[in-house]
Amino acid sequence: MKLDQFPESIQPLLVPEPGGDLIYHCLGCRQAHNIASLLYTCPACGSVLLIQDRQFDRLKAIEGGVWQRIFDYRRMLKDPALKGIYRYHEFIGPVIPLDSVVYLGEGHTPVVEANGALQDRTGMRFYYKNDGQNPSASFKDRGMASALSYINHLIRTGEVDQVLSICASTGDTSAAAALYAAYLKPKIKSAVLLPHKKVTPQQLSQPLGSGADVFEIPGVFDDCMKVVEALSEQYNVALLNSKNAWRILGQESYSYEIAQDFDYAMADKVVVVPIGNAGNITAVMNGFLKFFDTGIIDALPKIVGVQSVHANPVYRYYSQPSGDRGPFVPVTVKPSVAQAAMIGNPVSMPRVIHLVDRYNRSAGAPRVFFVEVSEQAIMDWQLTANRNGHIACTHGGESLAGLQVALEKGWISAHETAIVDSTAHALKFSGFQDMYFQNSFPDGFAVTPDPALVNRPRYVHPQTLQQVPLPGKPLDDKALAEFVDAVSREIATDLGLKKRS
Ligand SMILES: *Cc1c(COP(=O)(O)O)cnc(C)c1O
Ligand SMILES: [Zn+2]
Repeated sequence: MKLDQFPESIQPLLVPEPGGDLIYHCLGCRQAHNIASLLYTCPACGSVLLIQDRQFDRLKAIEGGVWQRIFDYRRMLKDPALKGIYRYHEFIGPVIPLDSVVYLGEGHTPVVEANGALQDRTGMRFYYKNDGQNPSASFKDRGMASALSYINHLIRTGEVDQVLSICASTGDTSAAAALYAAYLKPKIKSAVLLPHKKVTPQQLSQPLGSGADVFEIPGVFDDCMKVVEALSEQYNVALLNSKNAWRILGQESYSYEIAQDFDYAMADKVVVVPIGNAGNITAVMNGFLKFFDTGIIDALPKIVGVQSVHANPVYRYYSQPSGDRGPFVPVTVKPSVAQAAMIGNPVSMPRVIHLVDRYNRSAGAPRVFFVEVSEQAIMDWQLTANRNGHIACTHGGESLAGLQVALEKGWISAHETAIVDSTAHALKFSGFQDMYFQNSFPDGFAVTPDPALVNRPRYVHPQTLQQVPLPGKPLDDKALAEFVDAVSREIATDLGLKKRS
């Protein structure tokens, strides 16, 4: 629809102008820092930052119901800058003019309700939100669209010139960073650091295909992260890890979309997300809080954060009694099929601690829960989901396994509706499915295949055949007829097909 076809009263609100007053807010010393320079930690105390809008209250001048209509109408506009995460411009990056927005098709991923058979298995109504249907096939594109739109804005206003973006990654951050940087070349070049052999071949192919400089580093993600931090402290590079608070802003879109897709009714909803570096759960909490504070939603949904027993520092922290938790203790990770979340020392932990507290206080009761799940449960639930028409990655399996645990513990009830995050596309992690089907998991994983879930190709090669087609060597008519007959009979027998009468 064209702008002048919308109700007149709402027209001036549909295409946002730059506004707001964003600052980096330090969660350690609470100082505010100007956003004109790219900061990742507080120059005064070294703590992590969150971006705050000092004029956020201006958004409360518009009623929640009007905001709902603004977002619903924006869905119908043709402006590419409003088609992705910036449909929620005022909440995500109000200082960014629309002509600096980088849109590669991210966001607005489908929510797909589980079929009856799967809901019977889980014991409650749930939807997958398929964030694997983002351009680089994970939710990381949301944060990259935000970080790179802001850098693009700084370039266009002459505040920065050539940018070398850099990140450490469990695979998906680098895929997303390299993709968005490639779109903005030659102003932006990208380099990514990956833990050697700790990302899947598909994930490795992504930054290579986008033309990034790819470095493989011995060790695990936490080691890569240390190197990237050293580089960003000593050299002039733009850090694109979720330590960069702009990433968090973009990932808040996940919450806004859930609110909008469920008609802003959040009271009986449960949002389930896996936790690695904890940027995603930070963004999810912050997003719902902003919509709650402006009356766009009238209740905060429950949030369940899920970790594997092989990488569970956040779960461990919150399983201690409140009031007696002491300092956060990182863990040494073990191999995990939820490999993109295999992180022992999450960078966003101070943000999580800050926001869990705010979230629960705003809700007036505990609404954020943490669970751990076994590697076995992750694989079994992923494969079960996908046998029912989903495209969940291992982290999507982790989320669904976590939903079960939260239900068993009574933190959520069967009358609620869950939105379960499949953070990436199943194909990125198909190697773990192969290991399951071939029973070839290395010992460290502790996964044993359930025969009922194993699936393998059968090679059809009837013993009676003298000849089979080979590349470049087609069969003659008679041999081909024999081949087709023998092969189709073998398949029909295997499938138990009945002859047409
Ligand atoms: C990055 C990632 C996670 C973990 O998200 P955090 O923000 O680091 O907690 C989970 N799943 C996938 C597929 C990821 O790429
Ligand atoms: Zn500080």
